[in-house]
Amino acid sequence: MKRPRNIQRHVEDRVSQKKCLIAGCDKDTYALGLCKFHHNQFVYQRRKRKTEADRAKYHALAARRGLVLMSHECRQYAGSNVFAAIG
Ligand SMILES: [Zn+2]
Repeated sequence: MKRPRNIQRHVEDRVSQKKCLIAGCDKDTYALGLCKFHHNQFVYQRRKRKTEADRAKYHALAARRGLVLMSHECRQYAGSNVFAAIG
């Protein structure tokens, strides 16, 4: 999944500010690069897809448009898990 450069720049800007990816939304990130409101909207639309493959495809399409992050990006942006070193 590769985004057009201008969209990628928007995504990285918003992620670094911990702000929702949706243009015009100034709320803080809740999950997948979205605020709680937009995350709910995304999940609702994704859930309408009948198969897991369709849901994954929908997620990737939205991510390519810079409307949401992929799960691996969240991990990447969050950095390493500090709890992994315990125990
Ligand atoms: Zn939002």
